[in-house]
Amino acid sequence: MEQAGTDRVRGLVVAIDGPSGSGKSTVSRRVAAELGLAYLDTGAMYRAATWWCLRRGVALTDTGAVAAAVRDMPLVMVTDPAGPRVVCDGEDITDATRASALSAVVSQVATNLEVRAELCRLQRAEIEAEATGAPGSRSAGRGIVAEGRDITTVVAPDADVRILLIADERARLARRARELHGTADAATIEATRDEVVRRDADDSTVSRFMTAADGVTTVDTSAFGVEETFAAVLAVVRGASTRPAARGER
Ligand code: C5P
Repeated sequence: MEQAGTDRVRGLVVAIDGPSGSGKSTVSRRVAAELGLAYLDTGAMYRAATWWCLRRGVALTDTGAVAAAVRDMPLVMVTDPAGPRVVCDGEDITDATRASALSAVVSQVATNLEVRAELCRLQRAEIEAEATGAPGSRSAGRGIVAEGRDITTVVAPDADVRILLIADERARLARRARELHGTADAATIEATRDEVVRRDADDSTVSRFMTAADGVTTVDTSAFGVEETFAAVLAVVRGASTRPAARGER
């Protein structure tokens, strides 16, 4: 870790954004595991917020009630890249948050600007805890890989390494179809379209994740499998930061 003040050391912060199916969750987990960092899936936090509102019977169209519910949400993100979990009100809701019914409505909550402000605050606190090795931090101050649509621009614009993962629509649809249905044929690709294309269109009204902001490195994964994406992203991290954690050093 690098000396960032007289007696303060900071861990490595890697921020990765991109559209649905660009491969950001898979690669972020792999890179975090490789470098001994914590892993934060910010999309899972928006999914948890949606789950919590539905559980409490809050109408997602009632923006004020949704924002108030999210401010009260007893959320714990388990940031272990080998087994990230989402726990809300003492219940492990990791699997529930991935249900297609929830994916269909999550953008309603994610486009609520008060919700974004609250989740941004929680995400920054997680990142800061890992970068500084606060008590209870998973990485003991080595740092974190955080991923999600506005991470490189709004949540962590000062991250040591900022990457935008992109892939063409065909590749993204095929990946999500395989993930959800086990196969990518014409029928499963069509069934996945709402979850990829419509959701990204709705989400782009509040965050920018299709083009790279200044200082953000774009990695196009259209022609890549998991291993090639991992190698490309790791190379960017190693090239962009001199911190020991970026080189996998303890
Ligand atoms: O990445 P994932 O598909 O799990 O994200 C779920 C939803 O959470 C997205 O469709 C988007 O509405 C929202 N999201 C967001 N900002 C982030 C991460 C996710 O708005 N940083």
